[in-house]
Amino acid sequence: MFDLTLAELAKGLQKREFSSVELTQAYLSRIHDKDSLYNSYITVCDQQALKQAAAADARIEQGDAGLFTGLPIAHKDLFCTKGIKTSCGSRILDNFISPYDATLVSRFNEAGAVTLGKTNMDEFAMGSSTENSYFGPSRNPWDTERVPGGSSGGSAVAVSARLAPATTGSDTGGSIRQPAALCGITGIKPTYGRVSRYGMVAYASSFDQAGPMTRTAEDAAMMLQVMAGADPLDSTCADQPVPDYLAGLNTPLDGLKIGLPKEFFADELDPAIAEQVQNAIREYEKLGASVQEISLPNTRLSIPAYYILAPAEASTNLSRFDGVRYGYRCADPKDLEDLYKRSRGEGFGSEVQRRILVGTYALSEGYYDAYYRKAQQIRRLIQQDYINALQQVDVIMGPTTPHPAFRIGEKSNDPVSMYMEDIFTLSLNLAGLPGMSIPCGQTAGLPVGLQIIGNYFAEAKLLNVAHQFQLATDWHKQTPAGI
Ligand code: GLN
Repeated sequence: MFDLTLAELAKGLQKREFSSVELTQAYLSRIHDKDSLYNSYITVCDQQALKQAAAADARIEQGDAGLFTGLPIAHKDLFCTKGIKTSCGSRILDNFISPYDATLVSRFNEAGAVTLGKTNMDEFAMGSSTENSYFGPSRNPWDTERVPGGSSGGSAVAVSARLAPATTGSDTGGSIRQPAALCGITGIKPTYGRVSRYGMVAYASSFDQAGPMTRTAEDAAMMLQVMAGADPLDSTCADQPVPDYLAGLNTPLDGLKIGLPKEFFADELDPAIAEQVQNAIREYEKLGASVQEISLPNTRLSIPAYYILAPAEASTNLSRFDGVRYGYRCADPKDLEDLYKRSRGEGFGSEVQRRILVGTYALSEGYYDAYYRKAQQIRRLIQQDYINALQQVDVIMGPTTPHPAFRIGEKSNDPVSMYMEDIFTLSLNLAGLPGMSIPCGQTAGLPVGLQIIGNYFAEAKLLNVAHQFQLATDWHKQTPAGI
């Protein structure tokens, strides 16, 4: 049962091979049995999950079920879930029980999905390894001494270790694609505005975007179908028609034009990763695609630009956590200033504090023009690079990450080397474009991710391109030893 994809589980439910209660119970037991090793969940919702599963079974019985009814999933712990703790991986929200559901969560609930629990993450989605979680790091199922990536590390581990058939994640600079790559699963970051951000705790509002993390592109299509679409509660959510993602999966790839940015195959790339990505590209040529070199000249500037702009937005977004309205409050404050200082000092971890300081500095009078405005100008140049490139090709491909999963602790004292791991993912968020990572090979027993980038609102194309690869190859079926 744990090896079945969402699509297969949906068929099993429809044919009554098992009930949603049985399926949910099986996953809950497995989580209680195995997750102490992986730490992929912050909260497991046994009672609510079984209630939702029983309701789903009743819907299936009455013939009132949709494709998603009865399927268990888990949400990254930054999506607000009514009546359930929403910690964002932080001490400051460790006691926060959300009074409402995020739009994304209510859409899954309405579709009849079952919420198994809330997954571990870097605090406020800041990080590339899940080591910044107040609840301790998640562990990569391919080698538990290594990180799963971040910030949606718990969501990636849960899928990879078969502790959930699928999960949600969020991607501000790579947090869906990078952990998907390091854990050997499929993840898609949709176009900015494709999925509502209402009820998703904000890190950097002009970058944040939610998306699915699954075993296959077909499952990602099923998930995105539920998530995507306009939302009156989020004015940045685009009022664009949502295509039938499953229907688009089977278009043949004859004549597909793939662009390989030469900057993505530069010095920092591990040669073993380059080789796996090249093999995947050859597979695409066999499927009828043609390949050409392109250039995204400002790729290198994406790291400095992102690490000014995202902290700047974070510094304002996180000012709401003040120990007054909700969340952690320090003991016995002397006065209001002491309350603010100690609640925030004790409630936020060191990476979050670092970013608040960097962001506040970049926005301060006198430095604004030198840093914030410059970074915004670079953001525009990066977007223009992509717009130019996507006039020549249908999709852009390259590695998702420069290296496979690194060891826990290896980079935690060196923030810049951690930031460098984001070199191939950040630029998409600066441009607002959709991107996907699928497993395309292995090096020394660790998974390698292929990144596929498309034009605005071209998620159907990305899913199609990924699905055709998964029909022709087995990388997405590889399972970590001992799972
Ligand atoms: N790793 C990047 C960061 O630390 C991206 C995080 C994300 O996408 N949420 O900010």
